[in-house]
Amino acid sequence: MSEVGVWQETVFDSDAAIVSPPTKDSCSTYPTVPGISYRNFALSSTGLTPEQQSIALSQLQNYQFVQKNHFLGYQVSQSFNYEEDLKQYLNYHINNVGDPFQSGNFTVNSKFMERAVLDYYASLWNARWPHDPNDTESYWGYVLTMGCTEGNLYGLWNGRDYLAGKFLLNDPTVEEEARITSLSGQPRSVPPRLIYQQAPVLEENPNAHTPVAFYSEDTHYSIIKAMRVMAMQNFYEIGTEKYPQENPLAPGQPWPKEVPSQGGNDGPGSIDIKALCKLVEFFAAKGYPIFVCFNYGTTFKGAYDDVEAAGKALLPIFKKYGLDDRKVYYDPEDPTKYDIRNGYWFHVDGALGAAYMPFIEMAYNMGKISQRGPNFDFRLPFVHSITMSGHKWIGAPLPCGIYMTKTKYQLRPPDDPEYIGSQDTTFAGSRNGFSAMLFWDYLAKNSYAVQVDKVLYTENIATYAYLQLKALEEKLGEDLWVAHTPLSLSIRFKRANDDIVFKYSLSGETLYVKGQKREYSHIFLMTHVTTALIDELIQDLSQPGAFSTQEEEQPEFETDIYVTHKPKKLIHVPHIGRGFK
Ligand SMILES: *Cc1c(COP(=O)(O)O)cnc(C)c1O
Repeated sequence: MSEVGVWQETVFDSDAAIVSPPTKDSCSTYPTVPGISYRNFALSSTGLTPEQQSIALSQLQNYQFVQKNHFLGYQVSQSFNYEEDLKQYLNYHINNVGDPFQSGNFTVNSKFMERAVLDYYASLWNARWPHDPNDTESYWGYVLTMGCTEGNLYGLWNGRDYLAGKFLLNDPTVEEEARITSLSGQPRSVPPRLIYQQAPVLEENPNAHTPVAFYSEDTHYSIIKAMRVMAMQNFYEIGTEKYPQENPLAPGQPWPKEVPSQGGNDGPGSIDIKALCKLVEFFAAKGYPIFVCFNYGTTFKGAYDDVEAAGKALLPIFKKYGLDDRKVYYDPEDPTKYDIRNGYWFHVDGALGAAYMPFIEMAYNMGKISQRGPNFDFRLPFVHSITMSGHKWIGAPLPCGIYMTKTKYQLRPPDDPEYIGSQDTTFAGSRNGFSAMLFWDYLAKNSYAVQVDKVLYTENIATYAYLQLKALEEKLGEDLWVAHTPLSLSIRFKRANDDIVFKYSLSGETLYVKGQKREYSHIFLMTHVTTALIDELIQDLSQPGAFSTQEEEQPEFETDIYVTHKPKKLIHVPHIGRGFK
């Protein structure tokens, strides 16, 4: 027998591995990537020799270096340095499983840093802090393992259950059960047990627990995905099914699929508040609770929904129909047992903007910039949740983010403010503890002053890029559809050819403008972008053939919904392309 605790090599018998062989050569099956020979990366049962590893790793390094240095297409920063402080933790498994405010027994965690990061953003977003389970106005939140997608999922989940009259109740029978079981000689622990309950349907309002979702046509596809996952319905679905003739924006016409954005495709991309109010009022009048997802920095145009103006326009509507504060009964037998809840939930998808715009506001207050964005944070008493992606404005080597709400909006037993719900308050089980450390390291090194300098830098670069594109337009004597939404870091223009798209990782979107189908590219001017990089792009865009030719003719439309029997690609959600390509 081999010695315990001493590593020993065995002779490996390859017959011991029951594995499947390939059906064809994967190297010629998968997409080709410029600069990468897939063959160098294919793995085998024997692993790769040190020489093979080094060939592959140097190809990886060249590839990532070149791509990173030309990166312009997405709202993701490529400029940060975590290596010095955090490199060593690539060899640690640091897991923040469970609630950030409870230590738990998984002690290799960074929750003490997570709490510092959450406090920082609570303060920046004007929430009441620190988090205190007995102070229900104080914030609650956590650092996400995914980016904003997880924050949107969580916001929809939290909002849906809050509006649908779901409750968590303490199960009072646990203790007695344990006592009785123990009489038979079996020791029995007393675990806290929560029951997930649904408030009873009200006779006077059958819609009281059916939330209806509203979001603009510039909304990120993660919201559409989250709607499916959470099985929530939006106004288009409910409107079309139950009130097909009653679209309040155009009676008798089909319902719009999403809330219109101001000025349509050619506009800045923020939500049309008048249209939102009309749509919301229709459902509020029928007693439906209202879920609105606002965008604070849309993915393509970088537009900011005016959350304050929208909230102020919607509140009187909620008041009128008893949706501002309403009683939600949780004991069908006992009418004295109820909780007071809002009949609406405002979620702010602030992937880029919630991290960025607070510093624009500071720059504005210091007279360094001539405009600022609309209010979106917890200064507005009607905001329920905010989410943000860490890898976008501040920059991080992996997707991460923050979800934040108020303690009073968490689902918890109504009788028992002491009870912080279950310890399992977050979306995932295991949570990546590295992200909290990245956030912390960045915030420790970048004061408000530094971040203000950064936003001024990026705003200047955005103006520079815009002017260079306009100059190019002049030089080529051609309309390049150059457009820039104020205070956004995004500039859109006519789609460039595939080589340029690849070189700069340009994201694309198709828009109809005045009846014409247009394919756009866009760039995001993040902190890593230099004037030299913009000049290089302009140089490439000045070459003949830089812009791919686009169909001038009106395309034929499919107007019927059809079933594809042989889909070439597997699609899980009826997504809309926005920001995906
Ligand atoms: C990027 C983005 C998301 C999704 O964030 P991930 O970090 O990619 O999960 C959601 N909403 C908006 C507006 C975004 O720009």
